[in-house]
Amino acid sequence: MSDSAIDAEPGTVYLVGSGPGDPELLTVKAKRLLEAADVVLHDKLPGPEIIDQLPEARREDVGKRAGGERTPQSEINERLVELAREGKSVVRLKGGDSFVFGRGGEEAEYLAAHEIPFEIVPAVTSAIAAPAVAGIPVTHRDHASSVSFVTGHEDPTKDESAVDWEALAATGGTIVVLMGVGRLPDYTNALREAGMNPETSVALIERGTWPGQQVATGTLETIVDVRDEEGISPPAVTVIGDVAGTRESTVDFLQTDYGAAESEGEQ
Ligand code: SAH
Repeated sequence: MSDSAIDAEPGTVYLVGSGPGDPELLTVKAKRLLEAADVVLHDKLPGPEIIDQLPEARREDVGKRAGGERTPQSEINERLVELAREGKSVVRLKGGDSFVFGRGGEEAEYLAAHEIPFEIVPAVTSAIAAPAVAGIPVTHRDHASSVSFVTGHEDPTKDESAVDWEALAATGGTIVVLMGVGRLPDYTNALREAGMNPETSVALIERGTWPGQQVATGTLETIVDVRDEEGISPPAVTVIGDVAGTRESTVDFLQTDYGAAESEGEQ
């Protein structure tokens, strides 16, 4: 029997969600795996507090390459397989939950196709947690019986847009947009054109649960100006719907350790 790394059993890859950024919101399992892993592949989204806790010798930043452009997913997939074939125990750490706009599904498919054993470790998604820590429940018996999680990354005016804003407007439920800071004007317009009330409450939560969390609120009509005035930038989630307005009634008693700056736009 050869003891070369090539012939050895592959290590396991753990597709682990980090939660929104507060280290106390890591799952117990995620924390254990991070401590035990031979190597952790991550980008910036788990946030500074979690990333800075990882020993430098055991972590690889696969978010951006030198020069600033995003590392292609194919390269990350190949690196996962390469490390596993060296017999290493590998954690692929993603912000929030790996299976919510986290490309965890693609990584799982690639690993399976290359016969690498893997495990999925679910986590607290920012889509729910960032609104929550700002005092916004994504559903509420009086205000929203459904919630949709959508990407704001696409151009809503394109014919091939995969997000049907008109249909979303018609649900009457909460809409939570991820990756939606840049295209905020496009999809708030699309929703208004679809007949949504321009007075509908909208909240932006930037860096939810990170130090420096910021919350800004407005309406479908005012939120673009609010974003610009408050300087909201990614990563942030947009919450559209009456639930965003309920924050008003609780915020004075909402205890939060996050973020020095809390900013309010006009409602
Ligand atoms: N898998 C992640 C989402 C990845 S897509 C999750 O489940 O949370 C990247 C987008 O996630 C960002 O553009 C932003 O919209 C959102 N996001 C991630 N972490 C966030 C945080 N701490 N606060 C606000 N938005 C966050």
